[in-house]
Amino acid sequence: MVFEAPVKDLMFNIAHIAKMAETPEEATCDLDVAAAVLAEFGRFCAEEIAPLNAVGDRIGARFENGHVATPPGFRDAYAKFVAMGWQGLQHPETYGGQGMPRAVGAAATEIINAANMSFALCPLLTDGAIDALLTFGSPDMKQTYLAKLVSGTWTGTMNLTEPQAGSDLGLLRTRAEPDPDGTCRITGTKIYITYGEHDLAENIIHLVLARTPDAPKGVRGISLFLVPKFLVDSNGKPGPRNAVRCQSIEHKLGVRASPTTILEFEGATGFLIGRENAGLEYMFTMMNAARFAVGVQGVAIGERAYQLALSHAKGRLQGRPVDGSAREAVAIIHHPDVRRMLARMRALTEGGRAMVAFAAGWQDLAHHAGTPEERADALAIAEFLVPLVKGFCSEMSIEITSAGIQIYGGMGFVEETGAAQHYRDARILPIYEGTTGIQANDLVGRKTLRDAGATAGRIAAMIALTEQDLRRGSPAAQDIAVRLSQSRTAFQSVVDHLVRNGTQDVNAAYAGAVPYLMLSGNLVAGWQLARSVIAAEAALARGEDPAFMSAKIATALFYAHHILIDTELQRVRVIDGAPSLLGATF
Ligand SMILES: Cc1cc2nc3c(=O)[nH]c(=O)nc-3n(C[C@H](O)[C@H](O)[C@H](O)COP(=O)(O)OP(=O)(O)OC[C@H]3O[C@@H](n4cnc5c(N)ncnc54)[C@H](O)[C@@H]3O)c2cc1C
Repeated sequence: MVFEAPVKDLMFNIAHIAKMAETPEEATCDLDVAAAVLAEFGRFCAEEIAPLNAVGDRIGARFENGHVATPPGFRDAYAKFVAMGWQGLQHPETYGGQGMPRAVGAAATEIINAANMSFALCPLLTDGAIDALLTFGSPDMKQTYLAKLVSGTWTGTMNLTEPQAGSDLGLLRTRAEPDPDGTCRITGTKIYITYGEHDLAENIIHLVLARTPDAPKGVRGISLFLVPKFLVDSNGKPGPRNAVRCQSIEHKLGVRASPTTILEFEGATGFLIGRENAGLEYMFTMMNAARFAVGVQGVAIGERAYQLALSHAKGRLQGRPVDGSAREAVAIIHHPDVRRMLARMRALTEGGRAMVAFAAGWQDLAHHAGTPEERADALAIAEFLVPLVKGFCSEMSIEITSAGIQIYGGMGFVEETGAAQHYRDARILPIYEGTTGIQANDLVGRKTLRDAGATAGRIAAMIALTEQDLRRGSPAAQDIAVRLSQSRTAFQSVVDHLVRNGTQDVNAAYAGAVPYLMLSGNLVAGWQLARSVIAAEAALARGEDPAFMSAKIATALFYAHHILIDTELQRVRVIDGAPSLLGATF
C-alpha cells in the first residue's frame, strides 16, 4: 500500500482554518512556498520513511550490551532527513532552521507520523527539547546545543517518568547534587524514555526532571536539567561519555521500532536550565508542545488507516448490493455500512486535522501578535485547545484504526495487511504525554474553572459567529448551523454547570471531566469543519476545484449528522452522570 501525504487538505486548512491571515506578515509564509515545502516533504516521507513502517514493526528496536539498534533502514533514512534539513522546518533561522509557522510545522508533523510513527517520534522529541531550550535555556546553552538539535545532528529526549512517578510527577525522586563547578550530579532511574538511546545521531541531549537537596516536596521542588549523553567540549564536539546508561528497552504493543528505554543516571553531569525549582513550569512548555504533537499523531495514524481501508474497500468483492442493482458480488465500498465506516474515519480525521490547524494558528498568534494583550489572549485560547487536540484526536485514532481493521474483515486481524499495526501503534496515544484522564483534569481545572469559564465563553462566542455565517449559505450550510448551534448550547450548559458547581462538589466536576473533554473536542473539530464549508462554498462559487470542495462539504455534513450530535449525550453524562458514577461500588 502506497502512502500519499494529504497535502491538498493540509493546505486547505493552512489557507482557511489556521489564522495565518491574522498573524503579522513576518511570522507567516507564502502559501505557495508552504505548498511546495509540504509536497516535497510528502514525497520524501512517502519514498524514504513510509516503506520502513512495516519492517520497523516486525523487527523492532533491539538492545544489546547497552546499545540500541534501530531497525534496518532507519539510520540511512534519518541521515537523509538531517541532510535535507527537515528537523529545522519550524525552528528559528538564527539556529539554522527555516522559520516556518506552526501551522506548517504541524502539517509536516502529521505527514511524517502518518508515514511512520515510530520513526517520527525521534524528531518529535527533538522538537520539544528545542522549544524548551529556546524559551528557557541560557545564552551559553543555546549556543552549544541549539544549532545541533535544529539540524537533527543531535536528538533530544524528555525524562519525566520514574517507576513510582507517572501521571503524578510530584512523586519523582531523581536527585541533583550540586558540584563546586556549578554543574550537578544527576542520580536516579527514568523509565519509558522515548529514543533515550539509539544509533541514529552522534549525541543525545536529555532534558531531565530532578530534585536538588533542599527542594520542597511535590511539584514545587522539581528542577530541569540538561544531561548530554556525551559531554560537549569547548569546540562544541561530543567528548567523554556522561554517566547515563541504557539499562534495557521495553517490549511493546505498538510503536515497536521506537526504543522505549530505561535510563540509569549514575552521577551524570547535568546543567540546570533556568531557575531551581521551576522545572515543572518549564516542562509544561515542552509538554504542551509534545501534547499537541501527540494529537497530531492521532490525526496522522487516522489518515494512514483511512487510506489503507479505502484501497481495500475498493478492491474487495463481496456481497450483492441491497438495492439489487447488480447480480454479482460488488466491491464492498458499495455497501452502506462500509460507507458509514469509511465516512466516519474520514470525517474524524479531517475534523481532527482542521482542529490541529486552528490550534496551530493560535499558537502562531500567541508568539507573534502585535501587543502583549493580544499575545496573552491568543495564548489562553491556544492552551485551552491543547487538551482537546491531545485528548480527542488520540482517543478518536483508536476508533478510526479499529474501523480500519473492521473494513478489512478477517484480513484486518491478520498482521500482513498492516491494518492491525495502525491499531496497535495508535493505542499509546491516549496514554503518553498525559493520559486522557489527565488531559481532562487539565481542561476542567486549569483551563475552565481557573478563569471561571472565560476562555470557554470566548470560544462559544466565536462559534456563534460561524453559525451566523452558515445561515447565509447553502441548505447544507444552514443544516450544519442548526447542529452546531445545538452542540454549542450543550457546551455552554456544561461550562456553566462546572463553573457553578465545580468548586463545591469537586468529585462530581471531575467525574464529568472526560465527557466534557470529548464534548469540547467533538464541538471544536465540528466547528472547524463548519468553517471549512464556508470556505469551500466560496471556492465553489469561484469555480475552484469542485471535486475537492464538494467532498469537503459532504464530509462536514456527515460529521454534523453522525458525530457532532454526540455532544448531547456527552452533556447528559457531565450534568446528570456524576451521582451514579460516584455511587458505583467495586
Ligand atoms: C511507549 C511509551 C513512551 C513513553 N515516552 C515517554 C518519554 O519519552 N518520557 C517520559 O518521561 N515518559 C514517557 N512515557 C511515560 C508516559 O508518559 C506515562 O506512561 C504516562 O504519563 C502515564 O503514567 P503511568 O504509566 O505511570 O500511569 P499512571 O499514572 O499509573 O496512570 C494509570 C491510570 O490512572 C489514571 N490516573 C492517574 N492519575 C490520575 C488522576 N490524578 N486523575 C485521574 N486519573 C488518573 C490514568 O489516567 C491511567 O488511566 C512513555 C510511555 C510509553 C508507554
